[in-house]
Amino acid sequence: MAKRDPKRNPSRPARPSRPSRPRPAAPGESAGRRQHSSHGPRANTKRASLPPRKSKNKNKPTELPQPELTLGELLHPPFRIGHGYDLHRLEPLAPAGSGRPFILGGVLIDPAGTFGRGPVAHSDGDVLLHAITDALLGAIGQHDIGQLFPDNAPENDGRDSADFLLEAVRRVHAAGYRVGNLDCTVILEKPKLSPHKSSIRGKLASWLAVPEAMVNLKGKTHEKVDAVGESRAVEAHVVVLLIRSVA
Ligand code: MG
Repeated sequence: MAKRDPKRNPSRPARPSRPSRPRPAAPGESAGRRQHSSHGPRANTKRASLPPRKSKNKNKPTELPQPELTLGELLHPPFRIGHGYDLHRLEPLAPAGSGRPFILGGVLIDPAGTFGRGPVAHSDGDVLLHAITDALLGAIGQHDIGQLFPDNAPENDGRDSADFLLEAVRRVHAAGYRVGNLDCTVILEKPKLSPHKSSIRGKLASWLAVPEAMVNLKGKTHEKVDAVGESRAVEAHVVVLLIRSVA
């Protein structure tokens, strides 16, 4: 007869103790490794051979179906984006210094020389056209302006930067794209850019073969700090969007 526990309810008969039975081995699990039942010392928690658990986290992101793209679409996407940046040091105009006449976006922005400084460059030093050229080349994944037009080549000495821009536009068209729009920021302390904005946008639109409305130009100062703010440099940032022009 089973021995009664004095702490238990005397009206409820004690269940006879049963020897624990081992759980059947899961498929692929070695029965010899299962040494303990769940009632004994810590059960074997090895799960490598058990089927994977389903996640209880309903917020866990699920994999989205991937669109099927053709090789042509991968190599020739409908849009491409490019970024360009350039900076030139400003010095007193020659012969007092090495500064060239201050041309920006193809426009002479200090025609009377009252500012008295200009960009130091091997070419004409047009910082905005250089940044746009790099943005276009970057969008189609081709080199950069320095690789195409080295600053130690004699033929580039004093060269009109419109040549660089037009070569980049030619390459964009050859790659099957056209310019969608571009956004430019020029940072300089002096001279003021605003009187020349309209002329610059007109020239850019003509060279890029887009309506003027697709060319944005912003002028900013550098709050009189650092080289740009002290009129010792000028810089430009450009973002351009290309649109595929062929199917
Ligand atoms: Mg440059």
